[in-house]
Amino acid sequence: MLKLHNLTRVYQTEDVETLALNEVNIEIGQGEFVAIMGPSGCGKSTLLNTIGMLDSPSSGQYLFLDEDISNYSEAKLSEIRKRNIGFIFQNFNLIDELTVEENIELALLYHNIPSAERKSRVAKVMDRVGIAHRAKHMPSQLSGGQQQRVAVARAVVGDQKMILADEPTGNLDSAHGQEVMEMLQSLNDEGTTIIMVTHSPAHADYAKRVINLFDGSVVTENIRAA
Ligand code: ADP
Ligand code: ADP
Repeated sequence: MLKLHNLTRVYQTEDVETLALNEVNIEIGQGEFVAIMGPSGCGKSTLLNTIGMLDSPSSGQYLFLDEDISNYSEAKLSEIRKRNIGFIFQNFNLIDELTVEENIELALLYHNIPSAERKSRVAKVMDRVGIAHRAKHMPSQLSGGQQQRVAVARAVVGDQKMILADEPTGNLDSAHGQEVMEMLQSLNDEGTTIIMVTHSPAHADYAKRVINLFDGSVVTENIRAA
């Protein structure tokens, strides 16, 4: 699915230089479920944002679906991103002014799909994550667990091959957190590649592979037998 080769990211602010990722080499295959762990500030979000093409490396190579995208324009990256990648964030990142169904439908507007089909796909995915009865509600009227279910629906409504989740359970109580993890697990069972940053060892247990970062470098990798 993707390959990072000697990938380095340096943040330059005023007179301070931060080495957020230091010559990282990672290969992730289609259908994998990977957890990224490590202490605060070790580069987890930078790594996830780089994989999501929201942040560009300072040096090194990024191959996505065998294509070297390292020097692609923002427009081209945006195109690849919208077609292939769904995002789930700790704070849900729904649009407050749109209803549940509008939030989900937004992820399809780039796909050139006729309106009627958009509606039916949104309805199907809302059913699937158990949020259909809230279709006309605004995000502020939902619990955190429900908002994250909407975010999961938005991440998969376009048949995205890969989901990137940055502490998806960080703002949820344990029951709702587990619910989200089970949703991610079932998406992975159907073939969706999942890459998740988490601080929770229990939630990392859902992943089949754990990548541990420290000071911008991969320090250990554990691959669990299926
Ligand atoms: P983590 O997600 O593991 O907490 P991050 O990827 O957010 O780590 O950050 C890695 C390092 O890069 C940290 O030292 C952080 O302070 C720094 N950093 C992150 N984003 C920026 C930025 N936009 N500008 C400057 N430094 C940043
Ligand atoms: P563009 O600026 O070209 O519209 P974006 O950077 O907004 O592209 O991101 C494109 C896609 O990436 C969005 O459709 C969305 O799926 C995802 N994305 C990026 N940032 C966010 C965010 N903060 N919240 C939710 N989704 C995001």
